[in-house]
Amino acid sequence: MRTPTSTLSAPDDAKGRLISIFVGAVLLPSIALSYVSVRFTRELTETRIQSDHKRAERTLYYIERDLVQSAHAKALEGARAVGTEVLLDGRQEAVREALEVARLDPTMFQSLHLEAPSIRIAGKSAGGRNKLPEEVRELMAALGSPLQEGEDQVPWLGSDGHPVGLLRFRFSAGYVHRRLVKEYFEREFAGLSQLVLRVSEPDGELLYETAPTPSAKFEVERRMESASFRDLRLALRYKDVSIAGDARRWQLWTLSLIGLIDLTLGAGLYLVYSNVRREMRLSRLKSDFVANVSHELKTPLALVRLFAETLELGRVPSQEKAAQYYRIINKESQRLTQLIDNILDFSRIEAGRKEYRLGRTDVARVVAEVVEAYRFPIEQQGFGLEVEVAADLPAVSADQEALTQALLNLMNNAVKFSREEKAITLRVTTADGFVRIAVSDKGIGVAKSEQRKIFEKFYRAEDSLVHETKGSGLGLPLVRHIMDAHGGRVEVESQPGQGSTFSLVLPVAGGDD
Ligand code: ADP
Repeated sequence: MRTPTSTLSAPDDAKGRLISIFVGAVLLPSIALSYVSVRFTRELTETRIQSDHKRAERTLYYIERDLVQSAHAKALEGARAVGTEVLLDGRQEAVREALEVARLDPTMFQSLHLEAPSIRIAGKSAGGRNKLPEEVRELMAALGSPLQEGEDQVPWLGSDGHPVGLLRFRFSAGYVHRRLVKEYFEREFAGLSQLVLRVSEPDGELLYETAPTPSAKFEVERRMESASFRDLRLALRYKDVSIAGDARRWQLWTLSLIGLIDLTLGAGLYLVYSNVRREMRLSRLKSDFVANVSHELKTPLALVRLFAETLELGRVPSQEKAAQYYRIINKESQRLTQLIDNILDFSRIEAGRKEYRLGRTDVARVVAEVVEAYRFPIEQQGFGLEVEVAADLPAVSADQEALTQALLNLMNNAVKFSREEKAITLRVTTADGFVRIAVSDKGIGVAKSEQRKIFEKFYRAEDSLVHETKGSGLGLPLVRHIMDAHGGRVEVESQPGQGSTFSLVLPVAGGDD
């Protein structure tokens, strides 16, 4: 007999092509993209740190400006309390007295006086509001005398709201340190949860801070330049996180997101790849199936023809030989029928047209019939067949023909996949509302990794021993379908090289079946 080649399968390099398409079109671009995104994220993190620092520095600049404005407001408040006359006079004792009278801190100013060439201003200011800037410039030019160290000035407005002079003042260091700074920060930053600010002396001595913090933790520092606060240090940090920490956290988050996208992409790729591979495998299995089935059909037919012709031509040496030829013809046609039944049933299942006629069925009888039909041919092949059927089996609700077909498939496989040790055991038991028909052999067995796959259509184990035996890969899927339709299941227990037990498990019929 000629062994047909079973490789009508899809060419092997299709898999290679598939892989190169995936690698070239999807994997490499996505790796490149991830690489670029990771680098970009790193650079962005550095830029972010720098710009956050700059922003913090700008914040300090504005705080200083605000602080200066608040100092000016304080100076004006003090000066107003003192009154124009004393201011113009500029005597500090008089200033102090006036402050005391106004219940203000008498020691707040080291110097305070008003410079106001009021006559000139009064004449010019009549010209209109839009001339003011020029007037101020003239005023400044007129004042001439430069500011001294630590001295500050602020325009002094006349009763009509126009500048009439410059209020020059120098706060006392004690007032700046103890009151001005403290009051400003307490007023402006109390309850501000995000920022922690500190003002310190040039030598580091603490003047005020909004929350106690070790010096090293401050991220940005500014040396104040304004007259009243010259050389004091203004420092800032963010309360819960450092600038770098925040940026790193963002980086980590972004990188995780990239990782997640990569993972999703990888999973998607894997899904597509495994689906395509499955399709390819299925198409290969189908081709194998066609080759196997043609062979399965041809072999028994050839035998039937050969022996029928021999018998017809009367070339049989003895009666026993003739009987043997009849048996072979009978057996081979049974095999044919079984195969064709399987194929037909399978195509019905695929088309969704397979129907089962369930009825109260005596399992012992079905088993006995199968054994009766099967015992002789398999014993002829040297198999020992042991049958154990529990007494008083409950009836099951089953399609008798389908159940017989399922059992025959298991018996056939037990014979097909046995090698030296030819022993088959058929055991029928009942427990927990189920009847179990177990077919055991001592054949080649099924690897654990294949025990699920063998129930898929067309699947045949990747074992060379299996491929010595021809088959369609339809038997077990059919058995599973039959069992599913009966509300039962098919189970396999197997050790490669030791043998297998395939069991049909059927629910016991309800009372009114
Ligand atoms: P076929 O027997 O036509 O190959 P089946 O669907 O009946 O198709 O079986 C599928 C596969 O399951 C077989 O190819 C074989 O690898 C494995 N198998 C089934 N029964 C047995 C058994 N009794 N011992 C070992 N392997 C088995």
